[in-house]
Amino acid sequence: MIAPGGTIGILGGGQLGRMMAMSAAQLGYHCITYAPEKDSVAAEVCDDFFCNAWDDAQAMAAFAQKCDVITWEFENVPVGPLAPIAPRLACSARALETAQDRLSEKRFVEGLGGKPAAYAKVDTASGLASAVDRLGAPGILKTRRDGYDGKGQWRIDTVRDAEGMRVPDVPTIYEGFVEFDAEFSVILVRGKDGEKRFWDSPENDHRGGILAQSTLPARDVIVKQSEEARALAGHVADALNYVGVLTLEFFATHEGPVFNEMAPRVHNSGHWTIEGAATSQFENHIRAICGLPLGDTSTIAKTVRMDNIIGKDADSAHEHLSDPHAHLHLYGKAKAREGRKMGHVTRTGWDG
Ligand code: AMP
Repeated sequence: MIAPGGTIGILGGGQLGRMMAMSAAQLGYHCITYAPEKDSVAAEVCDDFFCNAWDDAQAMAAFAQKCDVITWEFENVPVGPLAPIAPRLACSARALETAQDRLSEKRFVEGLGGKPAAYAKVDTASGLASAVDRLGAPGILKTRRDGYDGKGQWRIDTVRDAEGMRVPDVPTIYEGFVEFDAEFSVILVRGKDGEKRFWDSPENDHRGGILAQSTLPARDVIVKQSEEARALAGHVADALNYVGVLTLEFFATHEGPVFNEMAPRVHNSGHWTIEGAATSQFENHIRAICGLPLGDTSTIAKTVRMDNIIGKDADSAHEHLSDPHAHLHLYGKAKAREGRKMGHVTRTGWDG
């Protein structure tokens, strides 16, 4: 166990690290961030900041030396530079490695009994044509690596679209379009001893590939499928010997839950847990990686709604405060670029 007063290293400098560090401070820990970008909103609430390239081995070693345990808030941290600091990582970087490539992620989850959308590996333009031919259209071409919030994705509506398309010069995957009834996520925390706890699954509404809203309670179509989805997420966590918060995203369909993707980290669709659950995803992540007992994951509000504040909407974010049930979280980002997550607001309802 890492006793309060100890130091937690966070790889990545974004809002997830910021909220993690705020929970860590509440439990009496210090945090240090490591990120290559100067404008880190996590570093603002941490004791120290290593602003270095991921492959700066000397800086990484110096960072690790200051930390009792190291976790990540960013899933695209390159795994190569983590090898020398492996003994300090809260869990193996295999979880990162698996989730960083959409193909290896799908194969891994399929191996544990999960059902992803129909997919095909695509490396060339002719490969795309034959993938679309085989799986049909509509579908989505996605880069295998580095895509997030709808980036690195191209919708293909007809076989003809595929014929005229220039395939990006990186490995991609073509996925059949899933006709889903709803989207939801399974968010769990797994302790060092293997104990797992699950939060209630929120219904997630994406707009333009970016999460816009998470709500609870989720509709019946989700509730009926969440047990099967939870079982799969539990197998994934165990197979990776994962420690901390892990998220799997699903489509609820007529044929049951279809696996979309996983994130080996705290997740945007779990932000509602800060006010809506007995223990937030951030606090339980810190508890797990420090070897403390896990907190209760029960939902404590009758209804919860989390809305992301994206891009220019941040300019009027303070207007949310005229609603006394609104909990505003701004991440302190200077530039409100289109599609950039600037904050979120959570509303809890207690009497329906
Ligand atoms: P992703 O980055 O893969 O999670 O995609 C972002 C969002 O795009 C998802 O949450 C869905 O709303 C939509 N999407 C992605 N893949 C598919 C698919 N195969 N079928 C239908 N919708 C999809």
